Amino acid sequence: MKVGVLGAGQLARMIALAGYPLGLDFIFLDPAEDACANKLGEHLHGDYNDPQLLAELAERADVVTYEFENVPANVAEFLAAHTRVYPPALALAVAQDRLVEKNFLNNLAIPTAAYAAIDTLEQLNQVMPTIGYPAVLKSRTQGYDGKGQSILKYEADLATAWHKLEGVPAIVEAFVPFSREVSIIAARNVSGELVFYPLSENTHRGGILRVAKSKANDPLQHQAETYISRLMAALDYVGVLALELFDVAGELIANEFAPRVHNSGHWTIEGAETSQFENHLRAILDQPLGSTAAVGKTAMVNFIGNLPITKQILTIPGAHLHLYDKAPRKGRKVAHATVRAESTEQLAIALESLNRLAEKADDS
Ligand code: AMP
Repeated sequence: MKVGVLGAGQLARMIALAGYPLGLDFIFLDPAEDACANKLGEHLHGDYNDPQLLAELAERADVVTYEFENVPANVAEFLAAHTRVYPPALALAVAQDRLVEKNFLNNLAIPTAAYAAIDTLEQLNQVMPTIGYPAVLKSRTQGYDGKGQSILKYEADLATAWHKLEGVPAIVEAFVPFSREVSIIAARNVSGELVFYPLSENTHRGGILRVAKSKANDPLQHQAETYISRLMAALDYVGVLALELFDVAGELIANEFAPRVHNSGHWTIEGAETSQFENHLRAILDQPLGSTAAVGKTAMVNFIGNLPITKQILTIPGAHLHLYDKAPRKGRKVAHATVRAESTEQLAIALESLNRLAEKADDS
């Protein structure tokens, strides 16, 4: 069985690593010659829009999936006309545009911050008294890891923030006074079987995820499961989906969702009975889903910019290192490490060491 993947970055790489024990083969389409999943399968080298390459991918793969949500709609449609493609095109279309996404979530009674569509500076000036300060101005499309975002603290910030976006359609959101950020990851297979992972508690800096901790038995688990089930049903979803949420005094407010495996779920490789990567493959191949039960207490730390020194990580008790085979570059996610421990105290000690190393490597 051959799985086609649009994109050959670290997510595709970890999908492939999870697929080999299941006897799966992989074929990746990616414009980068040195994309980090290439060694794990065949590589179709070229643009995502190249009709010949897409036809080849559709022809050779039994099922196609992707590692990023900005797959152009015409590409998803082309592939879907020729082969099985999961997650469904609707999930891509909704997740690609923050305004469509917020409308979709609110229509499902999944609460979000107050928001408004912004196409001109005049509109921004008009809505701000309703939205209130502070707020966040974001580009509607193509934004990730905090890119294309500005915090609005005062009226004087509006013009600068708007001009920074260079006229692209935008959305302004009230700043959510959260006590913590969490995400829930769920998998649903073609037959409709659905499993949820324990919540992940996430720390971001500069809009980029730094640390994710597994939170078995979190009091907000049930609320998060209710929201993600509703979302998956509405999207007729197949595969792994991640929903990012803010915890505001015990009430969850949705930020956004990702129709793919997610950085906040990397800890599931060592910290859950079945990883998000394996369950994504099982889901799209309509196999029974694996248990999502937590194994120990885990936390994951991203390495951004510079590579960690292997020996320093592996000396930490319970640490597991994942190097992505990517060249170091400013602001680039090049590796992550997960620590697993039996007790919260042991985890805290190991995590402190890991964080220190990650901060040293970090140049973002
Ligand atoms: P996003 O690209 O929307 O996932 O935003 C990246 C990060 O910026 C989030 O994980 C939050 O830490 C922060 N952020 C984004 N939107 C808001 C908001 N409306 N209120 C508070 N923090 C936000």
